[in-house]
Amino acid sequence: MISPDEVEHEIERFHAAHQVTTEELRQAIGSATSESATVASILESYLMIASDPVITQAIVQRIRRGASAEAAVVDEFDVHKTFLYSAKDQLLRERVQDFEHVVERILAALRNRTLSHELRLDSVVVAGSITPHEMLFFKRMATLGVVTEIGGVTSHACILARDFELPAVIGIRNATERIGDGDEIIVDGYTGTVVVRPDDATLQSYQARAAERSVERTSRLTLIDAPAATSDDEVLVLRANIDSAADMKVARAVGCDGAGLVRTETMLVAFGRYPSPDEQYAWYKNIVDQAEGSVVTFRAFDVGSDKYREGIPHHEENPALGLRGIRFLLYRPDIFEQQVEAVWRAAVHGQVRFMLPMISSVEELEAARRIINRTITSLPERGIEIVSNVPIGVMIETPAAALLAQTFAERVDFLSIGTNDLAQYTLATDRTNELVADIFDAMHPAVVQLIAMTVRAAHTAGIPVSVCGELAGHAAATELLIGLGIRELSVAPSLALELKHRIRQADSRACARAVADVLACTSTTDVYSILQQLQSSNHGSGAS
Ligand code: PEP
Ligand code: MG
Repeated sequence: MISPDEVEHEIERFHAAHQVTTEELRQAIGSATSESATVASILESYLMIASDPVITQAIVQRIRRGASAEAAVVDEFDVHKTFLYSAKDQLLRERVQDFEHVVERILAALRNRTLSHELRLDSVVVAGSITPHEMLFFKRMATLGVVTEIGGVTSHACILARDFELPAVIGIRNATERIGDGDEIIVDGYTGTVVVRPDDATLQSYQARAAERSVERTSRLTLIDAPAATSDDEVLVLRANIDSAADMKVARAVGCDGAGLVRTETMLVAFGRYPSPDEQYAWYKNIVDQAEGSVVTFRAFDVGSDKYREGIPHHEENPALGLRGIRFLLYRPDIFEQQVEAVWRAAVHGQVRFMLPMISSVEELEAARRIINRTITSLPERGIEIVSNVPIGVMIETPAAALLAQTFAERVDFLSIGTNDLAQYTLATDRTNELVADIFDAMHPAVVQLIAMTVRAAHTAGIPVSVCGELAGHAAATELLIGLGIRELSVAPSLALELKHRIRQADSRACARAVADVLACTSTTDVYSILQQLQSSNHGSGAS
């Protein structure tokens, strides 16, 4: 609540933010009209919502009753969204997303962030930071690339950029001041470089490099049907990390053997709410259908931290250490039950696995199992067809889970190592914070030791273990993971063929020998240097 003497100031803030938003939308419509009628019409519907006087007046009334500008905007739009959710007409329900975008724009303007560049076609977005929601929006707007001041390469927004194959460079200090509106820029997502106002020579050299990359990528297409086997015939399973049925289709097209990780919270970002079991079932079934009989590993909602946060009861000072993943699901069993129902229904149509995020104790696993069992027992009683043998696994992404990997391995059907969080929590390094980006490295010997422990535990228990964190696709890590005994990797579909190429160059026995040295390393630099030596000898051997 704000005090009465803050009311006028708060109303002024709202009016200013509202004006910025509508002005940005008008400008964006102006530039979109000549390029894409579809985008222009989407933007026009945003402008109509943003300019609705009934909504604007209601927001001002809310502020007069003591709400802050932000709370008034969110609460007023929530009323309209709730009304649309309950509509019978699917088209009307889909309009909820338009409302979501307008809220985001006004909130961004309230935070004094100028997002005008984001709304143009053929442009690069330069912003302070970017949320997963905004990243989805940019994908729809056919944005060319993204540069942010704040963030980490394994932040959820950045992972989405990679999934969308959107060039992104994160953590460029003062980018919004150093890059002007309309400046020509090069965004090199491979090296994390941004060149502002490049001269002709630089431009030509980047164009040549881009052409080379494109030739290289085309040449990798010959590997689509080739097995992901090392040069000494150790066969690996190569799966995809996906967010939607469309991703699953791409993953199949590049030869991935199903999905090792479906980040179901991305569905929440897309809906802007928790969809009903029927809606979730339709979403999951679509993915299962696209998988064409291959494995689909749905991860339970990993809500919290830098991901979707709806339902977290209040602001958290340390959200990464807060009510996240399994903790949230146990706090909101109603949400968890609905997801379990939908996943088990979808499992009727294919090979589905289910895994639990952010596990740090056996008690959590047992509590989750109780909810799962209760839910799946109740479904046949309600006449709902399900399959009972959906394998259940846990993500190993906290040091506690890795240290207890043996215990978990004895209790579940598979393990999946989330190296993004495992590195974050082991190294006490926020994965979304560019100030500590140089400390964040999943090749740190302590993280490598925890991965090794997890693999040993899975092997002892005789269950599959995979790596689905970003380390799985890291160019320097393939030999390490093979040498550690990992035989299942899951990466963004865009990385799959390059990874397969590296797997096919590796010799699993040489990898195992190198890993014996890696496990004795005490510094990250030493880990890299051993693996680099091994890679150079692979290249020397001329394997393909
Ligand atoms: C991980 O933590 O490595 C992981 C795969 O999960 P996410 O990146 O979605 O947190
Ligand atoms: Mg994780």
